[in-house]
Amino acid sequence: GTVFDTVLRPAIVAASRSERVKVASERWPVTERVVRRFVPGESLAEAMAAVGAELADGLAVTVDFLGEDTLDESQADATVSAYLALLESLSTARSTPDGSVEVSMKLTALGLGLPEHGAKIAEENARTIVEAADGLGVLVTVDAENHTTVDRRLAIVRSLRDDFPDTGTVLQACLRRTEDDCAEFAASGARIRLCKGAYAEPAAVAFTERRQVDDNYLRCLRTLMRGRGYPMVATHDPTMIDAATILADEFGRAPGTWEHQMLYGIRVDEQRRLAAAGARVRVYIPYGEQWYGYLVRRLAERPANLGFFLRALAG
Ligand code: FAD
Repeated sequence: GTVFDTVLRPAIVAASRSERVKVASERWPVTERVVRRFVPGESLAEAMAAVGAELADGLAVTVDFLGEDTLDESQADATVSAYLALLESLSTARSTPDGSVEVSMKLTALGLGLPEHGAKIAEENARTIVEAADGLGVLVTVDAENHTTVDRRLAIVRSLRDDFPDTGTVLQACLRRTEDDCAEFAASGARIRLCKGAYAEPAAVAFTERRQVDDNYLRCLRTLMRGRGYPMVATHDPTMIDAATILADEFGRAPGTWEHQMLYGIRVDEQRRLAAAGARVRVYIPYGEQWYGYLVRRLAERPANLGFFLRALAG
């Protein structure tokens, strides 16, 4: 890989785990400008303003209340409450449910990592949110986190799908297991978001070369497009975006039977170009106070984003 992949990225990800670095960066007022590029705000009102703008432009949205890795049950409860308020707001953003509003959530924010009964607590919390969303006509997708959480997450998603089959989840092309997971979920007709993966993973479970991840992304995408489910093609990579369109044609998929997804603030013109060309495009909008881990992943995955960060610090 490049110097960025081998040296800088691991350093950034390691730094992100340091409490000292986190506190220091929270004190830098200039960080605000960098954060705002990727996160529209800390409040629900700011998130809903961003939602309104995307919907007005003909894009769909998925909204993430930022938070992860909680080891505190009351924090997990607070996350559930935040999602319930978010769902109420989203349901009023659209007069009839048309699939254009969705929430994304992380099971470690809902208690998956709690030392006792973590999986049970996270599933109960997730079920509370999925049930409320179902009643309000809002979709739910369960985000992917690091590889140690995949088995527990997929078990929970299978269980939620027994009652709420529209519950979606994420599969990461960087993981060696993902082709098999794609086959399973494509066969069961699931909504699956395919992304490359944002976490630094060991070679035992993950492809380490960019080229290998890209090749696996294309294999997984083919499996999803050929399958019975609803593929959600989450990438900013022009090669993957073009491949999605070609594969959708090959398997006779009409617009509306799959979608593109991109992150808030990244390739905004391309988001609008695809939508104008008739494709369904969904924008992932994160909000909340706990933006730190999210921001670090955005900076780590792209040297240009890091440059933006450094320029903002200098400016
Ligand atoms: P990269 O390999 O990062 O970039 C490839 C090419 O894309 C670049 O060479 C460039 O041509 C283009 N590009 C990328 N960024 C830009 C930019 N800023 N401006 C211009 N061109 C650019 N990861 C998880 O691990 N779990 C999740 O649950 C998860 N959910 C996601 C949801 C959505 C909607 C999206 C879009 C991503 C999600 N991710 C998630 C992150 C994902 O795994 C990647 O880390 C991230 O999307 C970067 O990979 P990429 O496919 O965009 O392409």
